[in-house]
Amino acid sequence: MSTIFSKIIRGEAPADIVYQDDRVTCFRDINPAAPVHILIVPNKEIATANDLDDEDESLAGYLLLTARRLAREAGIDESGYRLIINCNRDGGQVVDHLHLHLIGGRPMGPMVVRV
Ligand code: AMP
Repeated sequence: MSTIFSKIIRGEAPADIVYQDDRVTCFRDINPAAPVHILIVPNKEIATANDLDDEDESLAGYLLLTARRLAREAGIDESGYRLIINCNRDGGQVVDHLHLHLIGGRPMGPMVVRV
């Protein structure tokens, strides 16, 4: 299920990487929705939130802790931010490699568009 994100993780495709270790790779979204828009991506190829296993419990928590740290480093921890995981079609997922969006630097507005 390799996507462009796996290539970025392996250093085979360009990205503005803000943090990388043996578990996660974090880079700026190519089409940012706000002044700060960072994708927090597990290095492990997990397609969607549905595909998280029990063994991924620690990794899932690590994604959140990494987001918290990057928010602080970006200076938006006090002003606030939004964390988003899109899943499948109705969730609006485009890249089939699990990722957490860290978005902030302006008021985020309503949580979802009401239709
Ligand atoms: P999602 O809709 O949750 O799957 O979000 C995928 C996100 O990946 C979108 O916000 C895209 O702008 C972003 N994206 C796609 N390709 C790249 C890339 N090569 N580098 C950085 N961000 C990307």
